[in-house]
Amino acid sequence: MHHTNTGIFNKKVYIPYMSDAAYALSATFIRCGIDASVLDEPNESTLNYGLKFTNGNECMPCFVTTGDIIKVLEKPGFDAKKSAFFMPSSPGPCKFGQYNRLHEMVLNNMGYDEVEFLVPSASKSYTDFVGDKAFLFRKLAWQGCVSVDILEKALYRVRPYEINKGETVSVYKECLDLVTDAIKNGEDLYETIKVCAGKFENISRKDEERPIIGIVGEIFLRVNKFTNNFTIEKIESLGGEVSVVPTYKWITFTTYQYAMNAFKNKKIKDIFLSFLVNYYQKKDEINMFKPFGKLLRHHKETSIRRILSYAKKYINLPIGGEAILTVGESIDFAKKGYSGVISIHPFHCMPGAIVQTISKKFREDLNNFPWINLWFDGQESANLMLRLEAFMHQAKQWQETGYAVLEAA
Ligand code: SF4
Repeated sequence: MHHTNTGIFNKKVYIPYMSDAAYALSATFIRCGIDASVLDEPNESTLNYGLKFTNGNECMPCFVTTGDIIKVLEKPGFDAKKSAFFMPSSPGPCKFGQYNRLHEMVLNNMGYDEVEFLVPSASKSYTDFVGDKAFLFRKLAWQGCVSVDILEKALYRVRPYEINKGETVSVYKECLDLVTDAIKNGEDLYETIKVCAGKFENISRKDEERPIIGIVGEIFLRVNKFTNNFTIEKIESLGGEVSVVPTYKWITFTTYQYAMNAFKNKKIKDIFLSFLVNYYQKKDEINMFKPFGKLLRHHKETSIRRILSYAKKYINLPIGGEAILTVGESIDFAKKGYSGVISIHPFHCMPGAIVQTISKKFREDLNNFPWINLWFDGQESANLMLRLEAFMHQAKQWQETGYAVLEAA
């Protein structure tokens, strides 16, 4: 098993599917001259493979990606020498940083010693595997992720109100192709996003008021349809509109942390770099949201600084990213006038357990704002729909009276 990322230009890079942002990442690799492809979306067979080769106590995102990787290995014609898997890692208290270690052990046991894992280290700014294309790679991976997240926001904003069933999803898919093609061909993404905004605006919609439900929680399950048992579709079928914390928010959080560490350690070069990265990320975010100004409810994401300021009353900041963001984003959604929040967690998730423990307190402070913690282990749960129905009932009541009380308080 190799971690040295040499010779990657002669290999095919496989990217585990979390959300459609994986397609933008794959296009980014291709633009940088590296063959790449996205693994199939997780499904039932993923869980069977994953559970066969892990002990089932790992976090769910971990055994899901293990299952998807093994599915590819076992396909006829798979050439281990010419393949690599992309597996981001992350430092901190969370187990996420250990995923690639587990994958490595499982594959070793199966005899796939030659498969390479691409584990980008942010500290080396990706130069370790894309060489002199590192700047282009970073820029396009970021812009691609923001673009796909915005398309997803537009999908959730329009689909519940569409008059012709299925139209929004087909526009969304068309736009996803436009974005990935633009990345591969080196076209201007700002222009592509403008074209996409026009397509979404042309979808005819019903005029009705739905309660808006914020979706927060663990990053993988929050955005992955299969592992969260299609919670978003279920909420829409029960009369709601969702707003999901986008994937790219995690990237802005790591930029923020990088800046804070640079200040703490008084490293002038890092402080300067973090200013620069922050400047370009903000600029891209604002410019890419702009064409969707009429359609989307908000013109950018609430800043990390503000999210953390909401959360700090309830949770100690050094405790780690996921839990703080989940608490802060929930408070932000309540303040924005949404009608409820669903917090999505995998079984055995440590940040999820922290959120569950303190959620009672901050809900009380928010006048018992409708909120549920949902835990998923890959099994279709019979009572999920019942819980969601009860929750949507509360959310509709809040939409009518609750927010006004909170605002007046
Ligand atoms: S956030 Fe939870 S599920 Fe994700 S890696 Fe950490 S402990 Fe595991």
